[in-house]
Amino acid sequence: MKPVVAIVGRPNVGKSTIFNRVVGERVAIVEDLPGVTRDRLYSKGEWLNQEFYVIDTGGIEIGDEPLLVQMRHQAEIAIEEAHVIIFMVNGREGVTAADQEVANLLFRSKKPVVLAVNKVDNPEMRDSLYDFYALGMGEPYGISGSHGLGIGDLLDAVIAHFPSDQEEEIREDTIQMALIGRPNVGKSSLVNALLGEERVIVSQIPGTTRDAIDTSFTRDGQDYVVIDTAGMRKRGKVYEATEKYSVLRSLKAIERANVVLIVLNGEEGIIEQDKKIAGYAHEAGRAIVIVVNKWDAVEKDEKTMQEFEKDIRTEFQFLSYAPICFLSAKTKQRVHLLLPQVQKVAENHHLRVQTHILNDMIMDAVAMNPTPTDKGKRLKINYVTQVAVGPPTFIFFVNDPALLHFSYRRFLENRLRATFTFEGTPIHIIARKKN
Ligand code: GDP
Ligand code: GDP
Repeated sequence: MKPVVAIVGRPNVGKSTIFNRVVGERVAIVEDLPGVTRDRLYSKGEWLNQEFYVIDTGGIEIGDEPLLVQMRHQAEIAIEEAHVIIFMVNGREGVTAADQEVANLLFRSKKPVVLAVNKVDNPEMRDSLYDFYALGMGEPYGISGSHGLGIGDLLDAVIAHFPSDQEEEIREDTIQMALIGRPNVGKSSLVNALLGEERVIVSQIPGTTRDAIDTSFTRDGQDYVVIDTAGMRKRGKVYEATEKYSVLRSLKAIERANVVLIVLNGEEGIIEQDKKIAGYAHEAGRAIVIVVNKWDAVEKDEKTMQEFEKDIRTEFQFLSYAPICFLSAKTKQRVHLLLPQVQKVAENHHLRVQTHILNDMIMDAVAMNPTPTDKGKRLKINYVTQVAVGPPTFIFFVNDPALLHFSYRRFLENRLRATFTFEGTPIHIIARKKN
C-alpha cells in the first residue's frame, strides 16, 4: 500500500488547487475513460520517484453541519486514513479560531503534520509566516498554489515522514480479494456465505484490522484472503456512513487486493456510487468480477437476468471484460460458483503470452484490419512484447505512438481478448516509438 497524504484545512484556503497541482494530469486522463465517473477526492501523486495517494478531505461533506463540525470530521478522517497530513491555512488571513481547533485535534493524533501556509504569492509575504508558529505545528511552509511556489519544499517535507517500510507482502500464490460496494448491498452477508461454505481453517489475520478485516482460508488447494470492507465500518463515527468516505474505504481495499468483487444490489439496480467505485477498481488494474446479490428478492421472468446484464454493460462500459455472477448471499443460491470464477480471473490477470505467438497474432490482426493513417502517414507496428502481468501489459513498438488512436487500440485489445483468455482482467496497451 502506497503512503496516503491527506490535505486538511478550512474552505477556500486552496486545498483543491494544491491537490490538482500534485495529481492534476492523472485525474484528467482518468476522466477521459467512457463511463467512469469519479470525484477529485483521492488520486495518485508522485514526487522524487515516490508514489503516494492524496486525499482532499475538503471534498468530503457531512450533511449540513456547521463549519467547525465539518472541519472536525475532516480532520478525523485525515487522522484515520493518512500517513502524513498537510494542514493548510491561508497566509492572507492569519490564524483563525477554526485553524486553532483543527490544530488541536491534529496535535493530539500524533500523526506527522506538515503545515502549509498558502497564498504566499510573493517573497514580501513570507514575513507573515511567523504568525503560524503559534499553531504549534512546527515550521510553516510558505506556498502559492496558484503560482506554483514552494510546493517542492512542501513535498520534500511530506515524503520525509513516509514510513520506511511500505511493502506489505502480497504473496503471489494467494488470491487477495476485496468485496466492495455501497452500504447494504450484502458484502458482509456474502463474506459469511463464502466462509460458511468452507469446512476449512478460517483465521483472522492480525495487524491489518485497523483498516479492514482480513480472513484467510483455503479451498481446493487455493489460498484466499478476503478483505472485508464492510466489517470495518459500524464503529459509530458520524462520517462512516457518508458516501464519499465509503468510497475512500473501498479504495484502500482495492489497493491491497488482486481480485475485486464489485457487489451490486439486484433489488435496487445500479446507481452513480456503484459506478464510482467500479471506476476506481478498473483504474487500479485489478481483476474484476461483478456480483449481483439479492437475486432471491428480485421478481423474475426468463428475461430479467439478460436485462440486468444489459444494464450493467451499458452503465459500466469500461468493465466489458468482467464476468457477472447473479447470486444470493441469503439463500446461498449460486454462491458456490463464485470462487471458481474468482480463481479464473486471478489466473487470467497473471497470464503470460509468448512473444512469438503474440506477434503472429498481431500481424494477423493487422492483415485483417489495416493500421490507420493520419495525414498520409500510416501506423506501423514493428514488434509487440508483454512486459508485465497483473494486469497483462503490452508494449507496442511503433513508428509514431500518436498514430495509435483510441479505436485501433480498442481493436487490438479486442483481438487480444478474442485470442487469449483475458476474461476478468483489464489489459494495458502502451505504444512506444521504436528507435
Ligand atoms: P479549497 O476550498 O481549500 O479547496 O480552496 P480552492 O483550491 O478552491 O481555492 C480557493 C480560492 O483560492 C480559489 O479562488 C483559488 O484560485 C484561490 N487560491 C488558491 N491558491 C492560491 C494562491 O496560492 N494564491 C492566491 N492568491 N489564491 C489562491
Ligand atoms: P453490507 O453493508 O454490504 O455488508 O450488507 P449486509 O451484508 O450487512 O446486508 C445488508 C442487508 O441486506 C441485510 O439486512 C441482509 O440480511 C440483506 N441481504 C444480504 N444479502 C442478501 C440476499 O442475498 N438476499 C436478500 N434478500 N437480502 C440480503
